[in-house]
Amino acid sequence: MKIIIKEGMKMDYRKFGSKYVLRLDKGDEIVESIKKLCEKEGIKLGMVTGIGATNKAVIGLFHTSSKEYHSKELTGDMEITSLVGNISQMDGEVYLHLHITLGDKDYNVYGGHLTSAVISATGEIIIDAIEGEVDREFNQEVGLNLFKF
Ligand code: ZN
Repeated sequence: MKIIIKEGMKMDYRKFGSKYVLRLDKGDEIVESIKKLCEKEGIKLGMVTGIGATNKAVIGLFHTSSKEYHSKELTGDMEITSLVGNISQMDGEVYLHLHITLGDKDYNVYGGHLTSAVISATGEIIIDAIEGEVDREFNQEVGLNLFKF
């Protein structure tokens, strides 16, 4: 099954039971691609794991005192040594919360909250869908959209 995300962006995937194996190609943006798959397949809750390579990523750190995300763009050849996160819902829409760890040419790693990352070689992502739904709600005290049960 292929999804055309937009001109020049495509991904291919297979479903096995409640799990989806997804291949992202050069130029595909990770967050947008996973969101599109969730929307197409009606995945409302689940886990995301992945590896691959990127050459352009925006990662962030949430500053708890100011309650703001500070972000940084990283460029150059990087291994996606770990992509991990979850799928939930907020205001009736797919809500992705993803974190990423990236290794550079000197084998240093950088990690943070994933805002976006463009695949430079391949992206191998596995989504484990959970039957159910979990919503999110903004928490004033923390400054984040937390799981709401
Ligand atoms: Zn985060």
